[in-house]
Amino acid sequence: MTHKIHLAIVGASGVVGSKMIEVLEERQFPIEKLYLFASKRSAGKTVTFKGEDIEIQELTEDSLKAPIQIALFSAGGSISEKFAPIAAAEGIYVVDNSSFWRMNPEIDLIVPEINHDQLKHPSQIIANPNCSTIQSVLPLSGLTKYGIKRVVYNTYQAVSGAGQAGINDLVNKTTDNFPYSINDNVIPQIDVFLEDGYTKEENKMIEETRKILGIPNLPITATAVRVPIHTSHAVSINVELEQPFDLDTIRQDLSNVENVVIVDNPSQLEYPLQSKAVNRDEVFVGRIRRDASVENGLNLWVVSDNLRKGAATNTIQIAEELVKNGLV
Ligand code: NAP
Repeated sequence: MTHKIHLAIVGASGVVGSKMIEVLEERQFPIEKLYLFASKRSAGKTVTFKGEDIEIQELTEDSLKAPIQIALFSAGGSISEKFAPIAAAEGIYVVDNSSFWRMNPEIDLIVPEINHDQLKHPSQIIANPNCSTIQSVLPLSGLTKYGIKRVVYNTYQAVSGAGQAGINDLVNKTTDNFPYSINDNVIPQIDVFLEDGYTKEENKMIEETRKILGIPNLPITATAVRVPIHTSHAVSINVELEQPFDLDTIRQDLSNVENVVIVDNPSQLEYPLQSKAVNRDEVFVGRIRRDASVENGLNLWVVSDNLRKGAATNTIQIAEELVKNGLV
């Protein structure tokens, strides 16, 4: 008989939390009991999981304890800061979607296709990377054998990356979440500005990429831009490699990365599109071409569903590894 897990979702009423419920059911994650938590605002609402109604409970300091074995957190940094250690102290494995724990040197930052080995002896709190980072590091992981010399990211990120409040601004044509109308602009600001002029989102992409690829001083720059579409992020990646390459081999290297799919047939106008990536778990790569302005330069156009591979699916893949490795 399959070993079944007591699993909790913190932030179950949110955009990512709701997607997690969907993905758990779809992937037939072995669940004995599902526990759903959110704020007082959502307490008492019911959600259907495998044909059964489950009531959302208010998260309190007493919520996270045995028999819960794994808790998937998706309720923002301050909730993760406070409640993840409470859960961890109870022996619960926390997989956290917020940015709070990601750069802590004691915490594993995991994209299973790249560094699942770390989950044989994981930290008690495990961090899920930023959505744009996940879809960027997957193709880059296929290029490390050439030596990665420098990376330039430019992103085109969907409003659902900002949660329900971001979607509401697009749908209702309001500016309650974004500082300017997202219906009339692409906005070159995601998250808050830091002292050096970068945004926190750009900084996350830079630092998390270095940590996941294990290249601490990799030169990277990033510009993160919000665009007026509902779901799926696109990233234009310009990468300089140490060693020469030929493009056919690069295509092969990229397609060898698990869950990377090449869509690259310009003569047929085929390239990755955000609308086609929605509800898919793969990372789509196209516009693969040489950047002749530098030695060993390469351009990629990378698209993925920010709520699936960028959040819910990657989190659940991590939880699957915990089960597979016999940790729960
Ligand atoms: P969201 O739609 O705004 O959902 C936020 C969730 O947090 C809701 O379930 C909300 O519950 C809950 N919450 C808020 N305050 C709470 C409290 N005091 N106690 C318990 N629960 C509380 O946001 P989201 O997009 O799902 O994002 C959630 C987290 O995932 C964030 O940390 C975000 O950075 C991260 N993330 C998001 C994406 C993405 O693409 N959206 C990707 C990667 C990571 P109520 O409904 O009761 O308020």
